[in-house]
Amino acid sequence: MRELLSKLPKTDKILKEKIFSYHNMLLLKKITQSHIEKLRQDAINGIQIPCYEAIVNEIALIYKDTLSSNLRTLINATGVITQTNLGRSIFSRELLEEITPLLCEYNNLEYDLQKGQRGERYQHISKLISAIFDCEDSIVVNNNASAVLLIVNTFAKEKEVIISRGELIEIGGSFRIPEVISSAGGILKEIGSTNKTHLIDYKNAICEESSMIIKIHQSNFKQIGFTQQIEFEELSKLAKDHNLIDYYDVGSGYINGIPTKNEPSLIDISKNKPSLVSFSGDKLLGGPQAGIIFGKKDLIDKLKKNHLLRALRVDKFTIFALEATLRAYLQNNLKAIPTIAMFKQSKEELINKSQTLLELLKDISNLQCRIISLFSKAGAGSLPQEEFPSYGIALHHRNIKTQTLNEEIRQKGLVARVQNDEILLDVRCISPTAFKKIQNIFLQIDSEYGK
Ligand SMILES: *Cc1c(COP(=O)(O)O)cnc(C)c1O
Repeated sequence: MRELLSKLPKTDKILKEKIFSYHNMLLLKKITQSHIEKLRQDAINGIQIPCYEAIVNEIALIYKDTLSSNLRTLINATGVITQTNLGRSIFSRELLEEITPLLCEYNNLEYDLQKGQRGERYQHISKLISAIFDCEDSIVVNNNASAVLLIVNTFAKEKEVIISRGELIEIGGSFRIPEVISSAGGILKEIGSTNKTHLIDYKNAICEESSMIIKIHQSNFKQIGFTQQIEFEELSKLAKDHNLIDYYDVGSGYINGIPTKNEPSLIDISKNKPSLVSFSGDKLLGGPQAGIIFGKKDLIDKLKKNHLLRALRVDKFTIFALEATLRAYLQNNLKAIPTIAMFKQSKEELINKSQTLLELLKDISNLQCRIISLFSKAGAGSLPQEEFPSYGIALHHRNIKTQTLNEEIRQKGLVARVQNDEILLDVRCISPTAFKKIQNIFLQIDSEYGK
């Protein structure tokens, strides 16, 4: 064994190889050391040590891999429109082109051109938010979780926050409302029961220590049966009668363009002039990751004075992207927002897309495909029960197990669903420009397995 291990090359020798003369020495050293360690373990387990040249080549490859981006584009054939694992809402190429000069050149993000002095980054957004929701003022933070944190920290530090037990929800990634409230310094005053909370429960909970009544939208689950939650409109009135803040965390929220009747739109919510409302920028809105807060000016002013805001502040990328998205809504240019455009596809468009894709796949040898009707979902914890009728392709390969085929296409960048031993490609979230790529993926797999 000792003799075997002595065949392992020395790190220093490898670092001096000519092919590495332009490499970053520290990174190369780390990679080399860990690779030699791996070979040592292999040798102990009886795996042969490759020759010196092969080891150097392996290290060169690992180095190259380490420095190349691991991020890549994927084709989403799952039919889930805002897929959290696949980047949630995808951003508009049209709007990105619009904002590119702002990103790459100096700009008036925080500069008041009229006064020639420091301006405010939020004003670019708040003008638009006020126009859309007819509200007094607004502010934008990193995401909607930050919005909850900032609001509770500003108005409910060491004070009670009244919430129904039916609304103490967990979103993905271990974001739980009770934990966020306590991290923000608020005292959770839970009321009612899991399935039913009455207005009287809210009334009975109000005391000297109360600061606000929060309604959290049950965004990612539905309660059915013997249930009751109080509408925000009523809570809003109750809070105002007792000089408390009414705050609605709508979660996703949408402005328009979403074909649902099961959730109130943000426009409807804004009509009651709530004290504070918050929602995500990259769920159904279809913009960048952000937490948008709108409501009463005196409250927004207090949020702006909280030192936490500096830590939750949004970058210029977000401001530019959100501003362009909101302008698209105001101009009714909904086709510029991919998330909305995907919802709005007609049955005919979806069938046509499926036929075009079928034409490209049907002659690939060993592949059996047919058009199938499917159901798409909103995703990202929005509209949990709603299904949107869609179309796509169901397929299988005569020589490759469906599970294996699914792994192959996934590794080549096509993410699909498997059902009843068939691969399902929902065309709703696939751009026609990706159809050729899909054809190539299946051609490539067929030729690999044909050998
Ligand atoms: C998604 C969601 C959040 C968190 O929003 P992020 O933008 O993901 O931080 C908070 N509250 C509700 C009700 C949500 O649905």
